[in-house]
Formats: sequence, C-alpha cells, structure tokens
Amino acid sequence: MIVVLLGAPGAGKGTQAKRMGSTMGVQHFSTGDLLREAVENGTELGVRAAEYMDSGRLVPDDIMLGLAGELLDRKGSGAGVILDGFPRTVPQAKGLDQLLLDRGETIDLVIFLDIEEEDAVERLSSRVSCPKCGSVHNLTTDLPMTEGLCDACGGTLVRRSDDIPEKIERRFEQYQRETHPTIEYYRSQGKLDTVDAGRPIKEVQEAIRRILSRNGEPQAAG
Ligand code: AMP
Repeated sequence: MIVVLLGAPGAGKGTQAKRMGSTMGVQHFSTGDLLREAVENGTELGVRAAEYMDSGRLVPDDIMLGLAGELLDRKGSGAGVILDGFPRTVPQAKGLDQLLLDRGETIDLVIFLDIEEEDAVERLSSRVSCPKCGSVHNLTTDLPMTEGLCDACGGTLVRRSDDIPEKIERRFEQYQRETHPTIEYYRSQGKLDTVDAGRPIKEVQEAIRRILSRNGEPQAAG
C-alpha cells in the first residue's frame, strides 16, 4: 500500500508516519529527514538543498523528484511505503504519479492531517528532535523520560534550526501557496481522507487506524 501523508508544518506527519510504519510493517520515507541527513553528511544533494532549507523555503521540484525516484527504486516494486513530506507541490504530485505509473504502481490513499495554524505554530515552538534517530518530543505535551535525551536512542535532543519564529512563518507561507493546492489535486482523484490533527497523538493515530482498516490495510497492535 502506498500512502501519502499531507499536512502543514507541525501537523504531526512525522510522528504519525513513524507509528504507521511500525504498525503496518512498511517503510517510512521522510523527505525532510533524508534531506537533513544529506546536509549533515555534506553530500551533493545536501549542499544543493541546504540553502533552501536554511531559509525555510522548499527545495526545487526537480531535486525532489530525483530523490523520489531513488526512494521508489530503493523500496522495490510492490512494497508498501508511507511518504511523509512528499509531495509538497502540485508539480511534485504530478511527477510522483508519473514515477509510479512507470513502475506499474499507484497511490492508494492520501491522508490530510488538518490543523489550525495557531496550534501548529505552538507545537513547532516547543518541539525538540533527535538528530541521531529522528524521534520527536514536545516540551509541553510529550516530555522525554530523561530531560534532554531521546527516549528511543539516548541521543541529545535539539531544536530544529528551522523551528524559529521567522522561519516558521516562511514555511507556513510556502505551505499555503505551494502545498495546500495538492489537497484539491488528491481530492479530485477521490483519494483524500481528512483527519482532525489538532487532537492528542493517540486520538489522531486511532483515526488513521480506522481509515487504514476501512481501506483494507490489516493493522498490527501498536
Ligand atoms: P520537514 O522535516 O518535512 O518539515 O522538511 C524540512 C524542510 O525540508 C522543508 O522546510 C523543505 O525545505 C525541505 N523539504 C522536505 N520535503 C520537501 C519537499 N517535498 N519539497 C520541497 N522541499 C522539501
């Protein structure tokens, strides 16, 4: 099953995608995590992406579609995947459809995590994440067991460099202008399901679980 998670920054895409990945037993691709890793490792992709990410802008579509093609090759044909943070523009959505068509595959389901901007900004402002394993905590609603350390791997939790007010504002502008139109794109294909993502993590997870089982995806306990 190929599932796309759509939503504004702070909607909880990464958090939910990780949980879905482990309960469904499928791979989870976060383009944001992959780009941050590339920047960290100083690869050619990382060098090209860094200038956009540093200023809270979207990385150009041609670079993102190149990365998506590599991810789909890595996934292997027929295997399930959750795409988190991709596509983020209508050209990326159309490009993804073509990449999948070339491989005889198609998106099964698009889940839109719908959240008020005010709530999302509050989440981003108190978010810390682990650069080693990508786990995320929230210093208001989801404290780590040991202060400053990741529950999953013990790494030191840090604030993302783009989670500061002026970059958050830029990311929301980009989201409204570039990403929001992809919602209509998928709605018109009859693939969109919307979840109220302003609720606690467990409730959102349960709403997603119901959508997946309605779509024939067997759910492991989790
Ligand atoms: P995220 O971790 O999903 O919030 O992504 C962090 C940053 O990576 C974004 O602000 C963009 O600069 C870049 N990025 C991630 N995914 C995409 C994408 N599909 N298209 C363009 N830029 C992206």
